[in-house]
Amino acid sequence: MAGNTYANMLAALDNAAAKLGLREEEYSFLRTPEREVKGSFPVKMDDGHTEIFEGYRIQHSSMRGPCKGGIRFHPETDEDEVKSLAAWMSFKCAVANIPYGGGKGGVTVDPAKLSKAELERLTRAYVKLITPVIGPKQDIPAPDVNTNAQIMGWIVDEYSKLTGEFTPAVVTGKPLSLGGSLGRPAATGRGILFTAREMYKRLGKSLKGATVAVQGFGNVGSVAAQLLYREGCKVVGISYAFGALYCEDGLNIDEIISTGYQADLTGYNAEGVKHITNEELLTLSVDILVPAALENAITEKNVDTINAGLIVEGANGPINAAADAVLQEKGITVVPDILANSGGVIVSYFEWVQDLQCYFWSEEEVNSKLERQISEAFAAVYNTAKENNVPMRIGAYMVAVARIVEAAKLRGYVG
Ligand code: NAD
Repeated sequence: MAGNTYANMLAALDNAAAKLGLREEEYSFLRTPEREVKGSFPVKMDDGHTEIFEGYRIQHSSMRGPCKGGIRFHPETDEDEVKSLAAWMSFKCAVANIPYGGGKGGVTVDPAKLSKAELERLTRAYVKLITPVIGPKQDIPAPDVNTNAQIMGWIVDEYSKLTGEFTPAVVTGKPLSLGGSLGRPAATGRGILFTAREMYKRLGKSLKGATVAVQGFGNVGSVAAQLLYREGCKVVGISYAFGALYCEDGLNIDEIISTGYQADLTGYNAEGVKHITNEELLTLSVDILVPAALENAITEKNVDTINAGLIVEGANGPINAAADAVLQEKGITVVPDILANSGGVIVSYFEWVQDLQCYFWSEEEVNSKLERQISEAFAAVYNTAKENNVPMRIGAYMVAVARIVEAAKLRGYVG
């Protein structure tokens, strides 16, 4: 995905800057990352042999505050991918109006091939590589693809040992007992509900009875499906890695989740439920489609089969640039990823604030603060898009770029 994705990011940045009337020298600092750490490190495997792994931490911008963004463990992770993801984080944090820049990290590894002990040794070795550039006031990682709360716990421990101070605020997405926040695991999916609701309010419609299809039933997709279902939507389709479920009258998402089948729904059966393919799920005629699996789910190859009234992007980059242009022509509104899936980073910010204060909030408090923050971000993007007669994706980039450039001007970097 990588090279292309970075080019897409640059195109969106240039487009937004042109709409804002910015001169190139006023925003060109956003075209390249501020700092790239790349290194390789040895890890002793269980059978005694040593393997060398490559890892990255890329800090795209710290203009609005410390860099913020996840760590990905994936066999195809490379520098270009991490670079694109780091830039997206700068824009996402600026749209959410939280006091962060953007960064991202990754290790080229297939964690499914490692034992738990090997994964822990790999994580600790990676922390040694990035410790000089991370910290609560410098760069705050979090989980991303194939990393989780346990891995964040090891990072807290290794970083605290290396620096000599217990520092839970160095990462977010931690276990609760190590300074994690209530509401963090469900935050991204909850943000999807809030942004869909805000969009529907603007359209003068209610979510009750709206038909929904969700691609991907993982952390983001399953929570989004469940919350939309509880809001009264008719969730007619959900897909997972090996297939999809469809029910014309609506699936019982609470029941599906309670069966513990989230990862593989091949064996799920209920009255009126049909098993369809992943591809068919994307073609369903629905009011709202939530792509919440991986990047590039909707491209020029399948965009003509999309039959949704509104698309709310749960995943990062699920629609490529060519498909985006077609959707725009067709008049299908897209709530863009850097707004729609920002619930996770917003609650990560709340986690960091709680860690720095050593004072923790109730789940209700976290959820209501999330609703306020993401609704304000939605209003800024929606109004900017409307006033400038541009799609919401460009509106979101305009909001982000304007906020980052304002910080750069106030700090004295650009005139
Ligand atoms: P996850 O691994 O928990 O879930 C992804 C799900 O998609 C898995 O269940 C997988 O089986 C399924 N899947 C894979 N290929 C599929 C396909 N072709 N069709 C249908 N389903 C498929 O990951 P996640 O945390 O839910 O993240 C999903 C996306 O959201 C990623 O793009 C991620 O970067 C983005 N995101 C996640 C968060 C977060 O807080 N977790 C925040 C912002 C953005």
